[in-house]
Amino acid sequence: MKTGVYYHPDFADKGYTTLKHRVKPGFEALQGLIKAGKIEVFTPVITQQTEELLKQTHHNDLINRVKATPYHEVALLSAAGVIQAAEKLSQGELEFAFCFVGSAGHHAGYNYTWGFCYYNDVAMAVKRLQTLGVEKIMIIDIDPHSGDGTRDILANETSIIHINFHADEEYNYADHKRQNYGIFIDGADDRTFLAAVDENLEQNWDYEFLIVIFGHDGHGQDYGDFYLSTRGYQDFAKKIKTFATGKPILFVLSGGSNPQVAAEVIPAVIEVFVND
Ligand SMILES: [Zn+2]
Repeated sequence: MKTGVYYHPDFADKGYTTLKHRVKPGFEALQGLIKAGKIEVFTPVITQQTEELLKQTHHNDLINRVKATPYHEVALLSAAGVIQAAEKLSQGELEFAFCFVGSAGHHAGYNYTWGFCYYNDVAMAVKRLQTLGVEKIMIIDIDPHSGDGTRDILANETSIIHINFHADEEYNYADHKRQNYGIFIDGADDRTFLAAVDENLEQNWDYEFLIVIFGHDGHGQDYGDFYLSTRGYQDFAKKIKTFATGKPILFVLSGGSNPQVAAEVIPAVIEVFVND
């Protein structure tokens, strides 16, 4: 598949403390694939459009609060990469994209944010896709923490399917009318996680663009409450590739701090898509 990776050195230099040390090792582990010409690397840029999408997605008070932290620019740059990848995918210039980030996005709601997140990169990209005429978007969040911010912003958009696998108790829900699903699988290992994925993907979902919120904090050697292996992540990627055949697939990095895990899991997942 025609694959793009979005990366900026600022993600490693200026990213959120817990998340930034895994960025460079994860990217450097892709050098073999890059040299073999299997991946094209893109550098995101903050543009007027990024700023406008930020205002459309978040309350002005939140933006001002983030501007008072050291993470405004790196969070905006992270979102710029996700938006720019979504554009290229929607135009058919790429079939699969993986976005590195310097902060995460899924705990950033309309007017609140927590948990290493500042701006909701995926929600901003969704707004961009909608202006390009892409309405039916499926979001699968496999970061073991709940995607509450994404839900806060997008829950009422009924053409968007949000399937949120997590280990946060009291965040279990199935809102069929609005296509919002919280799947509580605390302590999941490969077997229980992949079974939950199968169960939730088997129905005939109506969508035209797939976004995966990819936290490797669910790895057994990382800090979240899933206990997945690198092989488990790779099997998940294979399921996604089959599930979304013929549709654009966008992976957006989320939680995770262990550099060794990043250096193993990120290439393992990308390899699934570059190799036809
Ligand atoms: Zn997480």
